Amino acid sequence: MEQKPSSICLMCQNQLRLDFSQRRPESTDSERKGESAITEVLTGHSRNLMKLISDAQFPSDAPVCNECSDALVKEMDVQVATLDDEIKTYKTYIDFLKENHPTTSISELKTRLKNVTDEEQQLEQQLRRLLAEEEQIDQELQQKRRAAETSSADTAQLWMKYRDNLKQVYDDHDELAALEAERQYAEVQHRKLIDTNVLDLCFHIWVDGNMGEINGFRLGYSKEAPVEYTEINAALGQCVLLLEILMERIGVHHHQLSPVAMGSHSFIKLRRNGNDIDTFPLYGQGTPLSGSSGIDGGMRRFLQLLEFLMKELKDRNKNFKPPYPILGEALIDSNVKYNAVMVLNTEVRWTRAMALMLTDLKAACAQCDALRAPI
Ligand SMILES: [Zn+2]
Repeated sequence: MEQKPSSICLMCQNQLRLDFSQRRPESTDSERKGESAITEVLTGHSRNLMKLISDAQFPSDAPVCNECSDALVKEMDVQVATLDDEIKTYKTYIDFLKENHPTTSISELKTRLKNVTDEEQQLEQQLRRLLAEEEQIDQELQQKRRAAETSSADTAQLWMKYRDNLKQVYDDHDELAALEAERQYAEVQHRKLIDTNVLDLCFHIWVDGNMGEINGFRLGYSKEAPVEYTEINAALGQCVLLLEILMERIGVHHHQLSPVAMGSHSFIKLRRNGNDIDTFPLYGQGTPLSGSSGIDGGMRRFLQLLEFLMKELKDRNKNFKPPYPILGEALIDSNVKYNAVMVLNTEVRWTRAMALMLTDLKAACAQCDALRAPI
């Protein structure tokens, strides 16, 4: 028996016992090439075992021991069975597809797949765009929220300001109403004062029966009710003061005479060319109407001034008429003359003349008041 090189099993690496009697007599080039390839396999271990076994024509081409080849066959049988099952499954599925989708062609499906892929891309782009928009809208929302918070704070502040202002308005309104009431009251008082003749108030002239009086001082005389000179002097002082005020009020001056009020020692002053010439007293002493009294000169000038005043008043108002005209040193009542001087006079007539003179003064007061410019 010729000596042959020993081989080992490709699987278990055990020594193989080869029987070359089964080998074909002529060895072709291809067989030699196969042997060399096996040798290469044995050295390199990089070839596919299944390929080796499938391509092998002799046991030496793919040296595998009987045990390993049996195990290999079993394993391959199992794989074949598995593949058969898969084939059956695929066939079933293909039948199912053919039944359910008989018209569906691959190209159409590919087109649909492409369309769906394109649509997916478009939708993804849209999604990205929408996400970007959402982010932007979120930012805008945050900004608007902050603005709204700021605005609400401003609003609260403005409301507080409005409340304060409203309160101020109400306060001002109340104050205005109070001031208006005060003004109306003052206006009423003012009207009352306008309607009041202040001279009437300051110089109260009253004639009771035959006896007249001014500011409580009687100006007259009778034996039943004797009046002393002190009272007559005070009454004449009041008359002089009133005459002076009336002349001052309408702004007239006699060219020679001027009344000088000095209380119970009043008099009439005579001036010529700027020089004081004489004074005529309107006060006396002793018993009235008993001889020389000393006031007759003053009384004459007083009546002269009163007549002058009456004339001035009549010049200003033609309708004004003195109640009792003055004629020299007498006053006329119903065409009866009543002398105002004491000399050669009776108590009754002198008292009457004084009452008439006081009535004229009172009328002059009213006329002066009427001449005031309306307010
Ligand atoms: Zn083996």
